[in-house]
This record gives sequence, C-alpha cells and structure tokens, in this order.
Amino acid sequence: MERPAIIRKTAADLRVPPNLADYAATRAAFSWAAVQAELAGLPGGGLNIAHEAVERHAQGARRDHVAFRFLGRNALQDVSYGELSRLTNRFANILRSLGVGKGERLFVLCGRIPELYIAVLGSFKNGTVVSPLFSAFGPEPIATRLNLGEGAVLVTTDLLYARKVAKIRGELPTLRHVLLVGEDGQPTEIPGTLDLRRLMAEASDSFDIVPTTAEDLSLLHFTSGTTGTPKGAMHVHAAVATHWATGKYALDLHPQDIYWCTADPGWVTGTSYGIIAPLLHGVTSIVDEADFDAERWYRILAEQKVSVWYTAPTAIRMLMKAGAEIARKHAYPHLRFIASVGEPLNPEAVWWGKEVLGLPIHDNWWQTETGGIMIANTPAFDIKPGSMGRPLPGIEAAIVKRDAEGKRPCVSEEANAREAGVMPELKVSPVDTADTEGELALKAGWPSMLRGYLHNEERYRKCFAGDWYLSGDLAKRDADGYFWFVGRADDVIKSAGHLIGPFEVESALMEHPAVAEAGVIGKPDEMVGEVVKAFVSLKKGFEASDTLRQELLGHARKKLGAAVAPKEIDFLPTLPRTRSGKIMRRLLKARELGLPEGDTSTLESS
Ligand code: ATP
Ligand code: MG
Repeated sequence: MERPAIIRKTAADLRVPPNLADYAATRAAFSWAAVQAELAGLPGGGLNIAHEAVERHAQGARRDHVAFRFLGRNALQDVSYGELSRLTNRFANILRSLGVGKGERLFVLCGRIPELYIAVLGSFKNGTVVSPLFSAFGPEPIATRLNLGEGAVLVTTDLLYARKVAKIRGELPTLRHVLLVGEDGQPTEIPGTLDLRRLMAEASDSFDIVPTTAEDLSLLHFTSGTTGTPKGAMHVHAAVATHWATGKYALDLHPQDIYWCTADPGWVTGTSYGIIAPLLHGVTSIVDEADFDAERWYRILAEQKVSVWYTAPTAIRMLMKAGAEIARKHAYPHLRFIASVGEPLNPEAVWWGKEVLGLPIHDNWWQTETGGIMIANTPAFDIKPGSMGRPLPGIEAAIVKRDAEGKRPCVSEEANAREAGVMPELKVSPVDTADTEGELALKAGWPSMLRGYLHNEERYRKCFAGDWYLSGDLAKRDADGYFWFVGRADDVIKSAGHLIGPFEVESALMEHPAVAEAGVIGKPDEMVGEVVKAFVSLKKGFEASDTLRQELLGHARKKLGAAVAPKEIDFLPTLPRTRSGKIMRRLLKARELGLPEGDTSTLESS
C-alpha cells in the first residue's frame, strides 16, 4: 500500500496542549541553566536524583499520588510518592548501617519487583552508585560486570542467588553484602546473605540525603552489547536535568498521565525512563513484572488507562507479528502518545500504530552514553515515518565527516603515535548540505553525557573530536532538520561502490505482508566487496518456501533497485537479539561466515 511520506498533525491529534508546541521558539529560548532552576537542589546545596524524583513530591501536594503501580505476578501494589520516600529512606538507612558509603557500587539483579525500584532510589539517597543488571543474565555476565564495577552490594532474590550467584560468590572479592528478597514472600535464611524485607521492616524511615554534587556518580550502565563487548558508561547526578527536560518535551508528560515504559531497568531506558523521568514529573508509572505477552500488554494498556506509552521496535514488531485482532479486543480511549526507542523504527511500524491503535508511533534516538533522549518525534511534530525526528531543545546534533588530516589512525599507527607522545587529534567537520550521509554527532556538554567508560579511558577519548561527541551511528539530515538513521558505522554494507544501510533494506522487506522482522548483513564477495544478505522471520500464518523467497527478492528489487536489494534471503524462526531487544547483526554475520561469535553475554536466549 502506498502511503503519504508525512503524517500531518492537526489540533485533533493533540488531546492535551503539548509541552513542545513551538519547536523553533522553545529551542531558541532554552537553556540548561533554566532547567537547573526548575530543579529543587538539595537543601544545603548539591544535587541528588532521588531528591528531585521522590522527595520534592513527597513533601508537596503529590504526596498521596500513586508513583508506581506494580503489576506483580499475583497482586497489584500501588506505592504513593509519600510511601516511596519512606521506603527509600529505609533502604538508604540499611546501606548506612552496613557501612556502605558514598561512591561505592551497588548492583541490582532482579525482575521488575518493587524492591528493585526502592533499592535504586535508596542508593541515590545514600550517594551509592547503582548498576542494574538483567535478571536473566547467567553467572558469567554477572561476575564480569560485578568485578569490573567493584560491586560492594548486590540486591537480588533468593532464587536468583541460588541459581546464579552462590556458585560464583568466591569469585567476587569486592562483594561485601548480598541483600535477598524471598520470591515466595517468606523470610530467607541463606548463609552469607541478609534478608532485605526484615532489614526494611527494622530500618528507620527517616533519612537525610547524603550531600551529592551534580558531578558525583549516580549510575553505571552497561551498553547493550549489540556491536561488541558491553561498555560501562558512567553517569552523574547532573543527568537529572536531561531526564526532566526530555520527560517534558520528548515524552510530553503531564501531571495526570498514566505512563508505561515497557523497558527493563537492566537497559538504560528502563532506568532513565522507567524510573527517573516519570517520577520527576510526578506521574503514575505502570510497572509490569511479567514478560512480553501480546494479549496481556493490550489488556494493560486498556485496563490501566495508559495515556503515554514508551516502548521499543522489537516489542512493536512482536505485536505486529501476533496480529491486529488481539489489539481490537480492547479500546484505548486514554492512550494519547506512543514513543519508541532502541532500534530504527520501520515506517511499517509507525503506520501499524496509526491503523491498529489509532496513533502513530513516535520514534526517538539516544544511547546509553547520552543518558537521555536526544533526537525525537514529539506529539506536535508532523511525522516522517522512518525518521527519528529532530534534536530536542538543548541538544545540537550534526552530521559530521572526519577531516582527511584528522582521520582516526589505525590501531598500529596509533600505538606508535602514542609511544612517540604525538597522538594526532581527531578532527571532524559538520556537513551542511541536506541528505548527506555521515556520522551522527552531538555538541558535547548536555547534562547526562557520559563522564567516562569504566576502566576504558582510551575508548572514551575516542568518542570525542573537538567539541563533538561521536555516536558511531551513520545518519543524514533532511532540509527540514529531520534526522534519518542509516545504520551503525560497523553495520554499513559496501557493495559495488555503494554504501548500503541495513535499515533501508530491512524496512523495505518489512513492507511485505509475510515479513515480521528482517536483519541484513554484508557478506564478503570477491567481485563486489560485499553482497547484501537478509535474514527474515515470518508473521503468523506464513510458511517459509522457495516461492516466498523469490517473491521477497522480487519485492525488494522493485522497492530498492538491483544494486541495493538483497541477493540472498534466509528464513529464521526468530532473529538473535540482545536482552534490550536489538537485532544482533554481528551474530548473524559471524554465524553466516563461521566466525567466532564474540561476546554473547547480552544475547537473549530464545
Ligand atoms: P553496544 O554499544 O554495546 O554495541 P548498543 O549501542 O546497542 O550496544 P545502547 O546504548 O542500548 O547499546 O543502544 C544505542 C544504539 O541503539 C544507538 O547507537 C543506535 O545504534 C541504536 N538506536 C537507538 N535508538 C534508535 C533509533 N530510534 N533509531 C535507530 N537506532 C537507534
Ligand atoms: Mg553503542
């Protein structure tokens, strides 16, 4: 079906006045200093995320407003801002009584249970740095991260501890305390651990937040591991300004919203936007403990009256795969805004939202390193399906090219240069012409920018060229200032003199009614450098066959032209993905070529 290139918004699309109504004027008037003034700051000076997210509301008019509605496996639990303040105070007191100080690291390894949220916010109050892990991680990724981050405390459940941590406890020399939550609600008595619920019951519920400064560390977040070994990105309390501004402009949060971020806190989205940003705006957040299930998700959207929904392309593709009939069992009169992050959002998915849920999906772009949303489609923007939107107020984004003389040296040259003490400086120049591909860069200095990669100063340094932070993603900007994702620098395919972004090929394949998802790689070829190869999984009701393969090859050639269309297509039941839901093209490639798979610690086991 041919669809228009732009989804134009009218007043009828905006059920509440948008926070970002006039893009140019808001950008022009914006300053981070003004955002700072919106924040309370600690009473005696300094800045602390938990104070902004919890205390401000607990001591004000929203103290009885529901902060979190936890949809547990067996029960529903509402926690107000006032209660959240007392619970997080108790947790902070536990840390203090255990002698865990400011700057020490606490790891959380649990499902989306209330204790996870309490531990994260309570740690901020104590000045303790939090590192969230996916509860599905096996012993090895847990040990690697805990040791790399010198974890002093681990919060987990009795079952996860028994299954994954007990056997590696001897390999975790920095770990002093393990706080366990009994999954059956009963006290736990495992040697070498403490029962968190008992400690919570005994702790005092008043606590004075440890004075933290804007530049004190708050979070250590590992990247998704899509392109290689995950990197530990270090963030500071100052990041709260970005969370506030993006919660306002990109997610358009309003005080009466019921907001649902489907991401797990093991992924940065689940922390920045599953915990911090909604609390800053005093809204009610839905937290679902269960894993993805299409029927359940539609029920939650309808029954919980979700008004703002933040999810990911992988989830949307799974909903599309499950078919529209399930969605149509419910009505969603409260839903007014849907946003997505994590991977390129195929135009097909944007339109699916409009056709099935009555609202287009608004793509936005950011990274673990950026700490918050940088480029977005907001409610008032016309959407160009396939574009990730425009830079938010306070963010300057550009497409840059590396200057010839400032070209990043190859590894051996770099080693020599370093030895000689003459590291050449990397230089880049912004590209002014529209629709030109280059590296997506951000003017350094926004508040939530990473402050380093843990134990990897070298890699951190390589993220910057002069004033610019280099994202490692390739993109282009059109004449209207919209940014278009092309591919990760590592994933771009070079075929017969063309540079081909996998996203374009994947999106074209997804327009075929049989295709649920597609992952595209370059396969080395003597004649043309690389040939485009696609891996495809099919929607319910379609069978893999040679006929279908030919049909898809033909469909892609028609859409993309022979130079860009895939030459080969393989069918897979599902594509390998990270725990944050990203297609792992490097794994498709390694498997295709029989090469080592590299770091698979974040691979979701299917
Ligand atoms: P690693 O750095 O370990 O390889 P990762 O880059 O996937 O993993 P994240 O920080 O979770 O780790 O993801 C950020 C990346 O996700 C971006 O650099 C980009 O490639 C991709 N991404 C995020 N949002 C979008 C989007 N809206 N469109 C296209 N790509 C996106
Ligand atoms: Mg990355």
